[in-house]
Amino acid sequence: MSGTGLAGRGVVVTGAASGIGKAAATALAREGAKVLVADLRQEGAEAVVEAVRAEGGTACAVVGDLSDQKVVDEVVTTAVDTFGSLDVLVNNAGIMDRLSAVADTEDAEWERVLRINLTAPFLLTRAALPHMLAAGRGSIVFTASEAGLRGSAAGAAYTASKHGVVGLVKNLAVMYRDKGVRTNAIAPGGTVTGIQVDAVPGAHGPAAVGAYAANIGRVSTAEEQAAAILFLASDAASNVNGVVLPVDNGWAAV
Ligand code: NAD
Repeated sequence: MSGTGLAGRGVVVTGAASGIGKAAATALAREGAKVLVADLRQEGAEAVVEAVRAEGGTACAVVGDLSDQKVVDEVVTTAVDTFGSLDVLVNNAGIMDRLSAVADTEDAEWERVLRINLTAPFLLTRAALPHMLAAGRGSIVFTASEAGLRGSAAGAAYTASKHGVVGLVKNLAVMYRDKGVRTNAIAPGGTVTGIQVDAVPGAHGPAAVGAYAANIGRVSTAEEQAAAILFLASDAASNVNGVVLPVDNGWAAV
């Protein structure tokens, strides 16, 4: 993609040890961005950093749980200290629920999914914003989901968390539109990654998913999702703000 404006930019990608985040970190580094890989998984994060460096790119890693404010602060401080700026934040890390309906959702499942999928990106965005506002520019991209657009793509906790992400994206887009910070999201449909589903029996289990599987269409590669993240992060999308872009083979249109 020409005119991305990403060369030399300081970028944070969360959940970048695997799947969509890994593909996004790789794609952004290939555009010349300096990429901080943030993830729970040390081995995977270090492997991505090594792969970027092997291609001549710039990367470093922060390993930890992004629902912990201390880890969030370390991510932002490390990016700013190492790269000199934090220009792009990709809030991508997330986990699935157990495809459970409300009556089958335990407190622990609800709290864990909401904490990682919605609160963690809120914490990171809040920590990153002062740097973007001081610079008068920034691009934030969230990985939402088809479950942020419809009621039948997952269980109660995941669906609520991703609808929350969509609301957060739109609020950020409006609140900071006059300050040079754009916020957008991708809404992936089914995508081949390492994400795990430990479904509860019955309720909204895999059998229910199977009933609407025909609507899902062709599943994506992680690289197809990363291409959309790259576009939204880049100057090619310089007046795109508050958009939730489905990357789903038309599932949202069914
Ligand atoms: P993945 O499991 O391959 O990657 C997710 C990464 O996030 C992992 O490396 C994991 O270690 C990391 N992570 C999870 N919790 C974390 C935490 N608390 N702190 C730090 N890192 C953490 O899965 P993926 O499919 O690439 O998921 C990326 C995003 O895409 C998620 O937000 C997910 O909800 C969304 N999504 C995925 C699909 C799909 O079909 N795969 C569809 C729609 C949306």
